[in-house]
Order: sequence, then structure tokens, then C-alpha cells
Amino acid sequence: AYDLELIGVEKVYDNGTLAVRNFDLQVEKGEFISFVGPSGCGKTTTLRMIAGFESITSGEVRIRGERINELPAERRPTSTIFQNYALFPHMTVRQNIEYGLAVKGLPAAARHEKADSIMSKLELLDVAERRHEGLSGGQRQRIALARGLVVEPDILLLDEPLGSLDANLRKSIQNELKLLQRNLGITFVFVTHAQSEALVLSDRVIVMNRGEVEQISGPYELYT
Ligand code: ADP
Ligand code: ADP
Repeated sequence: AYDLELIGVEKVYDNGTLAVRNFDLQVEKGEFISFVGPSGCGKTTTLRMIAGFESITSGEVRIRGERINELPAERRPTSTIFQNYALFPHMTVRQNIEYGLAVKGLPAAARHEKADSIMSKLELLDVAERRHEGLSGGQRQRIALARGLVVEPDILLLDEPLGSLDANLRKSIQNELKLLQRNLGITFVFVTHAQSEALVLSDRVIVMNRGEVEQISGPYELYT
């Protein structure tokens, strides 16, 4: 089975908006896929359906052959990093990052070790015991990335995760994502409106327009 498969997926919101139409896609384990296209073309809606956060109007999303709606949340191998970070305000940075590990029942020592390792890579150790109030957009974004990565997902879903990072940090996190793909075989689905970023990162770029797939191509084909 494919790591991820979309078969004739459609989304109509309650207000009648047709957000995604007839979306077919097969993704192999370890592939890096990006969705690009103008604001409102259906990228986030598609990502949210893959994550299981949004109901599917028709068609199906399968993860390793299993329908997403038949896969209980704790068995989904996906981790999602949201554009708006969705951090818990009452928790420290460390607690935010360790949350998913605590849910899995990992003992404190193991949680701290994993969190320390990822916070070190993402330059967050200095703020580990603070709450995210008062931290910069770039710091919050790195906390959200750390929280998604620390659970070691098989499929990582990212919605515009690098937007408010400065150029250097952006480059270093792009490299980090590519290393995760190469070394751990993580499958990536990456939403961005920045075509250049998609080209740098992806094995295949899915260009969307008005809820439909306009083009699926390798980065080279898209460029030419
Ligand atoms: P993006 O373009 O990055 O997807 P938007 O600003 O379009 O962000 O949407 C932000 C949030 O508002 C999302 O959670 C989206 O689901 C919701 N949203 C967007 N359009 C509508 C709409 N017409 N009615 C209700 N909610 C919407
Ligand atoms: P993108 O991520 O490409 O900006 P979205 O998936 O956010 O696009 O939105 C696709 C379409 O669905 C847009 O027309 C948007 O306004 C609409 N939309 C998004 N969320 C909602 C919602 N919760 N309710 C109604 N319409 C929505």
C-alpha cells in the first residue's frame, strides 16, 4: 500500500463552498510532497482532511491502505504542525514540546532527553522554562516544529511552517527537514504559497487552483 493515498477526495463546507474537488494522489514512504497555489485554492483544507481534522465530503484518504476515518487518533502515524502554532498558553515551552510524549506515557527522564535534543537543534534551550507569551514569532514557530518532531511521526504534515523565520534559520530548518526525510524515511506533506521553497524541498510539487489539482510535477518540470 502507499504511505498516503487520496482517491477522488472532495470537500464541500457546510456553507456550500466547494474547497477541494476530485483530488487523487499517491505518496510513497519517504517522499517529500508540497501543495502550492494561491490563497483559497484548498491547500489547508486538503492537509486537514489528511490529518483527520476535517470531514471528507466524498472520496477517501488512506494511510498505508487504511481509511483515515477508520483509524483511531492514537494509531495515526501523522503529526501536524499548524500555521498558527496552536501552542498551549498555560504550559512552558518544555511542557508544550513534551506534551505528545506524556500522552504516550513516556517517563519523565526519557521525555526530557528527547525534548532537550530537539530544543538544542532548534535553538530553544534558552527559553525552555518560559511560557510562549512574549516570545517572538520565529521562536513560537520553532516550538511548534519541535512539538511535531519530538513524537517521531512517520508522516509529517506542515502548514506554512517556515513563514516567520529569518533567512538563516529557515535554511537550517529546511536542511533539518531534508535530513529527517533522508535518515528516518519520514514522509512530508508541506503546504506553502512560496513556490521557491517547494522547489528546494520537494520530490513532487502539487500545484492547486480553485480546489483542483492543476499540475503534479517534479521540481525540475515545474521550473521549466
Ligand atoms: P489560509 O489561506 O492560510 O488557509 P485563511 O486566512 O484562508 O488561511 O483561513 C484561516 C482560517 O479561516 C482557516 O482555519 C480556515 O479554515 C478558515 N476559513 C477560511 N475561509 C473561511 C470561510 N469562508 N468561512 C469560514 N472559515 C473560513
Ligand atoms: P488555502 O489553504 O489554499 O488558502 P483553504 O483550504 O484554506 O485554502 O480554503 C479553500 C476554500 O475553502 C476557500 O474558498 C476558503 O474560503 C474556504 N474555506 C476554508 N475553510 C472554510 C470553512 N471552515 N468554512 C467555509 N469555507 C471555508
